[in-house]
Amino acid sequence: MALRRRLSTLVLIAAALVGVQLATAGVAQAAVRVLYYDASQSQEFVSVVRQGAANWNSRVTNVRLEPVPAGRTPNIRVYADNGWPRTYTTSLGNGYWYMGRQAVNQGYYQPRISTHEFGHILGLPDRRTGLCADLMSGSSAPVSCTNAFPNSTEAATVNNRFRSLTTVPAREFVWQPGV
Ligand SMILES: [Zn+2]
Repeated sequence: MALRRRLSTLVLIAAALVGVQLATAGVAQAAVRVLYYDASQSQEFVSVVRQGAANWNSRVTNVRLEPVPAGRTPNIRVYADNGWPRTYTTSLGNGYWYMGRQAVNQGYYQPRISTHEFGHILGLPDRRTGLCADLMSGSSAPVSCTNAFPNSTEAATVNNRFRSLTTVPAREFVWQPGV
């Protein structure tokens, strides 16, 4: 009788362990969408583009920005030109953006620009609050602002978008100040 009770206790423990493992596996499967970016056409800004991706990776858990492996189509392409930095989204996590020298030449902090433009790809619109603590305030914050990280609300919004895979419309976002 004692042995039988001990055996049934063991069976219960084993079942509980399997249950925990199944639950953990389920969470792991649901998490982390990987988006591939191609910085090879961003000219002198390759390392700044990488930094923008790394800044997001350090603050969000449901999506990761990775350099595109050879032979794979990127979700995101990054270019550079003499205009304003700007992003063209096609859907959540997909699109392309420009590192624009017009803002760089005005002295805007380059990693803030790159992290901000990735933010549009991750589903965040411009919010011109003028606050340096807001990444998506973009050019409305002073040129002296060197905050290149999303705040906790911005990071939570991105996590939510990729948890529920929100639909976002195709759009253009431009860094240009005063618009
Ligand atoms: Zn913007």
